[in-house]
Amino acid sequence: MSNSVNLDDIIISKRALHLSENSSLDEMADALQVQQRGVWPLYDDNAKGLEQVQVKTFHYAQCNVKVQFNPARIKSSAAKVDNKSIKERKCFLCTDALPPKQKGIPFNDEYLVLVNPYPIFPRHLTIPRLEHAPQFIEPYFRDMLELSRALKSYTVFYNGPKCGASAPDHMHFQAGNKGFLPVETEYSKLKATTDRKLFSNEHLEIFAVSNYLRKFIAIESDEMTLLQTAFEWLYELLEQRGQEPEPMLNILSGYENGKWRVLVFPRDKHRPDQYFAEGDENILLSPASVDFGGVCITPQEKDFKMIKAADLIDIFAQVSVTDSYFDELCAAYAKRVVE
Ligand SMILES: [Zn+2]
Repeated sequence: MSNSVNLDDIIISKRALHLSENSSLDEMADALQVQQRGVWPLYDDNAKGLEQVQVKTFHYAQCNVKVQFNPARIKSSAAKVDNKSIKERKCFLCTDALPPKQKGIPFNDEYLVLVNPYPIFPRHLTIPRLEHAPQFIEPYFRDMLELSRALKSYTVFYNGPKCGASAPDHMHFQAGNKGFLPVETEYSKLKATTDRKLFSNEHLEIFAVSNYLRKFIAIESDEMTLLQTAFEWLYELLEQRGQEPEPMLNILSGYENGKWRVLVFPRDKHRPDQYFAEGDENILLSPASVDFGGVCITPQEKDFKMIKAADLIDIFAQVSVTDSYFDELCAAYAKRVVE
């Protein structure tokens, strides 16, 4: 279980990061990654590995999807997240179990900003809560908005307990440097061309995208409370599906020019059929926020070599919600927001 007796040993000061007292969380997070590479060989090796990582890009009519061959991610992609396996392993996000070299930056006295020792992004953070509490978005959505605003050069993301989180028993966010996920560059065009504008006024815009291999609902606002309310309305509709322990979803959140932009990807399956298939049909790809953002992670070289454009279409179709459900959801949400 978690305890915070050694928290003071984990927290790294601005002075130790060679930063001035008025440095931002953004600057601290960047400096932390430099500091950790200098003292933590496992992280440095994985960060070096990432610099030489193989990537290929598939071009579709509406989007580009990258595939990254990242062997260090095998732990996460193949993580057993059933209750029994989780109970039997030591939680790797609890402060008393962090590797001795790992240091962190506190956020709001409730979270610890850490480097992700198995990075996908050139700058990749893991941001667990201090206490050992299960992964749920609803009580912590506002924290996600606050984190996005504090980490302006990052996209903050959330993987549901059955949607890619490898520690479903310990609430955490992750963050990766902006400009890395294809959805970020494709977003403006998607927004301009969507025929599913669900709501729009001076402070709140909501639209949906479905012709994009995967489906998402985007909420933009310059008011935190308004955005939170708009998210809760969507969450209540998703809850009606009865998925446990919470509606299956992945979320990407960014803050720019005084506005938040939150992308919610509602989900059906946790892992596609290919994940469980035997022989040539097998592809070890367990989609989470980063994959939905347009960078699919294959930890096995055979998958990286063999995967085809059609496989990704099929995989995204399985893990996204159906067309008919998405239509219903969009209609109900548009109605709810106007009320
Ligand atoms: Zn824990």
